[in-house]
Amino acid sequence: MIIIINDVGVNMTELVYQKDSYLKEFSAKIMDVKGNLLILDRTAFCPRSGGLSCDTGYLIKENKKYRVKEVFFDKITDEVVHKLDSKDHNLHPGDQVKGIIDWDRRYKVMRLHTAAHIITAILYKNYNALITGGHIYPDYAYDDYSLEKFDPEIFRRAIEEANNIVKQGIDVKIYWLRRDDALKIPGIVKLASRMPPDIEILRIVEIPGIDIQADGGPHVKNVGEIGKIVFLKAVNKGKRKKRLYYTVKH
Ligand SMILES: [Zn+2]
Repeated sequence: MIIIINDVGVNMTELVYQKDSYLKEFSAKIMDVKGNLLILDRTAFCPRSGGLSCDTGYLIKENKKYRVKEVFFDKITDEVVHKLDSKDHNLHPGDQVKGIIDWDRRYKVMRLHTAAHIITAILYKNYNALITGGHIYPDYAYDDYSLEKFDPEIFRRAIEEANNIVKQGIDVKIYWLRRDDALKIPGIVKLASRMPPDIEILRIVEIPGIDIQADGGPHVKNVGEIGKIVFLKAVNKGKRKKRLYYTVKH
């Protein structure tokens, strides 16, 4: 999925996963607590946003483990909220905690996410199709495309082409660009309905020669880590909404 979200500095939490998608453990200070909802000064938990499932995991203080069952952006403040599975905890603002993310879940989402960018780039190149929706779950993903014709063969062929790109073992580049410069890049926004928010610096995810997008989510370092993209099914959800389901395997 294309997720276009706030950059470091917009809210009080440093989004560590945007700089290092492979960080499985981190330390942080609690900034705010409301019931079972916590805000940290930095986090490696990727919030649910723009089609990506959120991370889950644990926060640990003094050898006591608290389950993080959900992470999301607050609709009003845009802060990253960590939701514990219980209000019964001993966590307070100012406390130092250690965070551990459920890596197997995250890594699968990362592989599916980078795969999504490759498939999207192919459908854009071959059919000028834009992505009109979608979601990446830990076990599979789907994306909706603005294709006129419903033809599962279009998707099968796109996945075949994507798998050839995966075999090339291309390194994925992540960097930040000023908004004005980023928006000059052709095809940088393939999400039909959304432009990047009104922020000065955009995070760019580039698969050289294949795809370049403004994007806030975690990706694999090399497309080879995706393994093999597998077509699951195609569903006609209406005009400008031809849905492709797929997953990744090793
Ligand atoms: Zn994306």
